[in-house]
Amino acid sequence: MIELLKELWYKRRDIVSDGYDEALMRLAEIIPFEIKKIKTGTKCWTWTVPEKWTVREAYIEDLDGNRLLDVSEHPLHVLSYSLPISDVVTHEELLEHLHTNPRRPGAIPFEFKYYERDWGFCVQHERLREFSKDKYRILIDSSFEDGHLKVGDFTIKGKSDEIIALIAHLCHPAMANDDMSGVVVLVDIARQLLKQDNHFTYKFILVPETIGSVAYLSQNEDLIPKLKYGLFLEMLGNNNIHALQTSAQGNTRIDRIARYVLNRAGPEFREGPFRKVVGNDEMVFNGPGVGVPTISISRYPYPEYHTSDDNPGIISEDRLLESKALVLELLHVLDNDYVPRRTFKGPVFLSGYGLWVDWRTNRPLNAAIEDIMLRFEGQLSVFDIADELGLDFHEILDYVNKFEQNGLVVRS
Ligand SMILES: [Zn+2]
Repeated sequence: MIELLKELWYKRRDIVSDGYDEALMRLAEIIPFEIKKIKTGTKCWTWTVPEKWTVREAYIEDLDGNRLLDVSEHPLHVLSYSLPISDVVTHEELLEHLHTNPRRPGAIPFEFKYYERDWGFCVQHERLREFSKDKYRILIDSSFEDGHLKVGDFTIKGKSDEIIALIAHLCHPAMANDDMSGVVVLVDIARQLLKQDNHFTYKFILVPETIGSVAYLSQNEDLIPKLKYGLFLEMLGNNNIHALQTSAQGNTRIDRIARYVLNRAGPEFREGPFRKVVGNDEMVFNGPGVGVPTISISRYPYPEYHTSDDNPGIISEDRLLESKALVLELLHVLDNDYVPRRTFKGPVFLSGYGLWVDWRTNRPLNAAIEDIMLRFEGQLSVFDIADELGLDFHEILDYVNKFEQNGLVVRS
């Protein structure tokens, strides 16, 4: 995962741009993403697809020709979607358009004005004092033209038509954790699910943040009723505990399974309700008229967020692997869960069916057998039973499957 991240993170992946398209095309070589194109100007509910933005050159010089800042040194030096400008400006005017992050003085901040239309540069806060002259020559050679917003859409068909959507955004230029880390974990999860039989149908969706999800869902409205749950992945490579943000509904099956899996993965994680941890594409999937319960898993916050310090130096493969394993476990529980309904009366003659559990080898399961048998009324799923009794899902699933094999329970 980290190799792929290192290959793509530095690209100028603005929301509709050649750099974004290049990254998406490269990912489509690994997983056959279908590329959905939505034209500039297309009305998508209350939004409109923006123009493709390109910047060829951008710099600030003093009038003696000393170059103080050049976008060729770092993509973040120019405001994403900056208007073009070629002018001599006063110190005061320049400072109005020079963005810094005082909390991270040594880093270039990530700033964007996709819809407001302004010009601007971004610079390390500690370098502000270098801009002490009265006048500066500035150039931003950028252009806005008609293009296509692109969404990567890959589907793995399962037995059921109900869809679980995994979503990540790909539109943060020259940053690694936000957002390439979520993308590489998503791609690896797709590779894993391709190798196995799945109950649900899985969709892997790569978008430019917010507008990409709005564009995708508004152009594929017939898909919305089939979307059972969503899972937004981002910021998974930094050294912090996991943060679960629950869906707008708050306590759906995917919320409960995520909480359960995180609890069991240990050692710790944090949890917050919808919009209290992060705000990404899950806002669109959970949003009005869409209403797909969509959780977010990240390792937010981290101090390098939205700056040039968000680079591969803060990413560890171990963290990516840990997050990938966590999501795969969550999907495993979701995918294998079912509601057992009993066909028997009275406590089952356990040894007669090979269902007896020796208390010397497994005391917790031995002690839980009667409680388990009381929960086969067609109301609770295997996960509900494991969760209620504080037991391991895999163990309970194996055990309940034996009841099923003996015809003692059926799936309802
Ligand atoms: Zn971001």
